[in-house]
Amino acid sequence: MRVLVVEDETRMARIVKRGLEEEGHAVDVAADGPEGLWMATENAYAAIVLDVMLPGFDGFELCRRLRAAGIWAPVLMLTARDAVGDRVRGLDAGADDYLVKPFSLLELAARLRALARRDDRARPAVLSEGDLKLDPATKQAWRGSTELQLSPKEFALLELFLRHAGTVLTRSQILDAAWDFAYDGTSNVVDQYVTYLRRKIDVPFRRHDIETVRGMGYRLRHTEQV
Ligand code: CA
Repeated sequence: MRVLVVEDETRMARIVKRGLEEEGHAVDVAADGPEGLWMATENAYAAIVLDVMLPGFDGFELCRRLRAAGIWAPVLMLTARDAVGDRVRGLDAGADDYLVKPFSLLELAARLRALARRDDRARPAVLSEGDLKLDPATKQAWRGSTELQLSPKEFALLELFLRHAGTVLTRSQILDAAWDFAYDGTSNVVDQYVTYLRRKIDVPFRRHDIETVRGMGYRLRHTEQV
């Protein structure tokens, strides 16, 4: 398969290129963020290997820009240290996997094979309802042309509402779906976050799209029902 390697250290880039070529891949190398972005836009790669530390802009930013440009090739990030922060930042930026330096070429090749096998690489669909729009891939949401500034939890909640527009969601359904751990408190946390979300997506726009369904839960107004 055709692989793009974005790495500024020439020795490292050469080793990775040679290693992947020995595995039968065709390998292009870009030496900085902008060049990586340009090459990934110009060519269709089956996988992209990104070093985190790059001149121009770093691997996180490059990954974000690739996803924003609609490039959905699997991305494997190379991080210099096993920092959980780097891993999380990489995954947040849209990377699919990461490898900590130093790594073996065999491991790199195996990870790439695994990524390329995954067939869920289609770009996640942008969700919309009325003039609300949310892109699960780039973690952006809009009301009309205004980009909404949402916390991760508010974003997850809005995504849930958009996936079930017009349907009443009970507090426990919301808890189960948007809170990834067993929340040991009451479902007040849901009410609290619905309030936060309304302040971001409804109140400033004089809208009431998130409806309270008394005794049941909440529902995002479905446009066709209005
Ligand atoms: Ca580097």
